[in-house]
Amino acid sequence: MSTTENRFDSLHTAIHRPERKVDLPQNTDGSLKKLPEYYGENIFDFRNSDAISEKIKKNLLEVSSSGKLLNKDEVEVVANAVTDWAISRGVTHFCHWFQPLTGWTAEKHDAFLRIDAKGKPFEKLSASQLMQGEPDASSFPNGGSRSTFEARGYTSWDLTSPLFIIEGPNGKTLCIPTAFVAYHGEALDIKTPLLRSVSKISEEATRFMNLVGESEVKSVNVSAGCEQEYFLIDKAFYFARPDLVMTGRTMFGELTAKHQQLDDHYFGDIPDRALSFMQELDLELHRLGIPAKTRHNEVAPGQFELAPIFKEANVSSDHNQIIMALIKKIAEKHNFAALLHEKPFANINGSGKHMNWSMLTDTGVNMLEPGDHPHQNMSFLAIVAIVVEAVNRHEQALRMAIAGHGNDHRLGANEAPPSIISVFLGDTISKIFDSFKEGKTFTPTGSNVLDMGAQQLAHLLKDNTDRNRTSPFAFTGNKFEFRAVGSSQAVGFPITILNAAVASVLNESNSYIEAELKSGRKVDEVLRDLTVKWISNAGASIFNGDGYSEDWVVEAEKRGLANLKTSADAYPVLKDLKQTAFLTEQGIYNPAELETRYNVLTERYILCREIEFNCFINLVNQNVLPSAIEYKRRLGEVIVAQKSMGLESSVESDIYKKLNSETEALYSNIRSLKKEMDALDHDDEAKTSLTIANKLMPISLDGADICSSLERLVPNDLWSLPKYYDMLFLR
Ligand code: ADP
Ligand code: MG
Repeated sequence: MSTTENRFDSLHTAIHRPERKVDLPQNTDGSLKKLPEYYGENIFDFRNSDAISEKIKKNLLEVSSSGKLLNKDEVEVVANAVTDWAISRGVTHFCHWFQPLTGWTAEKHDAFLRIDAKGKPFEKLSASQLMQGEPDASSFPNGGSRSTFEARGYTSWDLTSPLFIIEGPNGKTLCIPTAFVAYHGEALDIKTPLLRSVSKISEEATRFMNLVGESEVKSVNVSAGCEQEYFLIDKAFYFARPDLVMTGRTMFGELTAKHQQLDDHYFGDIPDRALSFMQELDLELHRLGIPAKTRHNEVAPGQFELAPIFKEANVSSDHNQIIMALIKKIAEKHNFAALLHEKPFANINGSGKHMNWSMLTDTGVNMLEPGDHPHQNMSFLAIVAIVVEAVNRHEQALRMAIAGHGNDHRLGANEAPPSIISVFLGDTISKIFDSFKEGKTFTPTGSNVLDMGAQQLAHLLKDNTDRNRTSPFAFTGNKFEFRAVGSSQAVGFPITILNAAVASVLNESNSYIEAELKSGRKVDEVLRDLTVKWISNAGASIFNGDGYSEDWVVEAEKRGLANLKTSADAYPVLKDLKQTAFLTEQGIYNPAELETRYNVLTERYILCREIEFNCFINLVNQNVLPSAIEYKRRLGEVIVAQKSMGLESSVESDIYKKLNSETEALYSNIRSLKKEMDALDHDDEAKTSLTIANKLMPISLDGADICSSLERLVPNDLWSLPKYYDMLFLR
């Protein structure tokens, strides 16, 4: 079978796919279960277990908040309760589930199986198996922080995140969320520093609340809600596009005449096949206690979004990893391939992950809630100003935290904010801040109710912010939304950096407030001064305009804001002692851990790009050039035949000439790409990553343009690779 037949076969298969029917959870009498009846049935949270005494629960909670050592006898009780619970649900294996620096999760399964002295099998999870594991760490990226002969790494039970069951086609596995650390306690994962940053921010935010008079506040949690974007395409096309399989993105593709200009996909009715996938996904997420809430079509054809209700940052970060994994897994059951890459298709929107962030006290106060009179809410305004100062001061670290080879295609590509980190505050807060700076009192104008000119409609309250979609970091009503995060990224990393940035400015602010209060000043006055201090200092980062415009790039440069264009420009921030002092001084990362991250991220950047280049060269040789050459052969035959009949037509020879020059250009393009790749110096990764970003990427993107142009020229029946037209419009 020729490869072109392959493409048309895929089309046929995809068009005739039936929807997958899912068995909904039922009661024994055959009636359907209601959501609350199956919500969380696949998780074990010691806090809710009847098999564990209140005293043990209390002790365990203390351990998770204070770092006290675990009591093994108590853990034994938990392990027994877990064993009973899991076995009654047909679980046979357990694993320590963790987030190494690959950005994905890792797991190693062990059976509950034991053999007693008489050779009889039984099933059990011991206390030590629950608490600690020792996976062979040598194969996980460690950035040179440990050599393989001392490859000991430990996983350690995270008491703050529930255990969960993952169902396979022929059995179930219990996953224990864990941190992953090296022999000397060095963090080899995303979670450990995240937990440190959560504790730090709790400490500083609690101090702040106590200082401003909220003395009952004992702790503060970071809450995070991550909106996840993704594409769905039929599995048949996925496997017919080696670039998607190898790299997660199409290396090139002809833009269809209609794509997203009409905005007709966004919030449009969800195609049945996609909806049936989403329904199964929501069902499985709910069974795992993951509060999936919103589902809708996104801007690009074939693109969708899922948003859960926010949770504590650590749990939310775990949940996002499970969400990404389940999106992929359940998509497969529906004969889809889910694409989580930031830019699977050139020239249409890519995918991001908006990370909504705020701070919630144990007394139930959202510290970013403006209330009905934001201009009089001094502690709210001070917190906003503190966040603005944190973003201004640590813009480079925040930029680094969202770097990745995939996200490089998206940032600044007229669909996502540029790589300049600025803050959007909206009209109301900006005006309040302006009047503060001028030493005036702010008087609210206008009504808070939207005038819709139609009496029949319920009154709508106007948000204190409008919806500026072009800002990388926006205040959206009662939270900040970090929008520059990439769709495939482990969200724990940017949350950690943001937490650390805010905690460090909170710390300084607290000292300031403390000193001023001691000198007898009133809290509100002090908070107002503090607010003015930070917004005057950080004003350059406040930008309410169009973040996608060219003007902003120029303006931002004038304001002195950094613009680290690619990942290769951003990762060196990790080696910059000045830029990372806030991380080391607060104990979020030690210098060795930062170096590890620099090495791992830079190495991954290089490897991923090299895979892309090799994949591109193969596609050109095996698909693009053969299609173009075949077309040349056809045209050649016509031209010769015409000549022999004494006929002249310029059409065939014109197309032939165009084909000829494009194929020449493409061939020379991949030759120079190969030459540059061979010349890379792998002993100097810093230099290599920059060369790739600044020299090889432009070459490969030029080559991609030629491929897309050939795709436009070559007859449809000669084009062997699935086109955007095939992949994106299926319903
Ligand atoms: P939109 O797409 O309009 O920005 P969504 O409803 O899709 O909004 O997503 C908003 C996300 O923000 C949800 O995950 C929601 O739970 C989360 N969120 C709402 N309030 C907070 C908060 N105080 N802290 C953190 N996340 C929040
Ligand atoms: Mg949304």
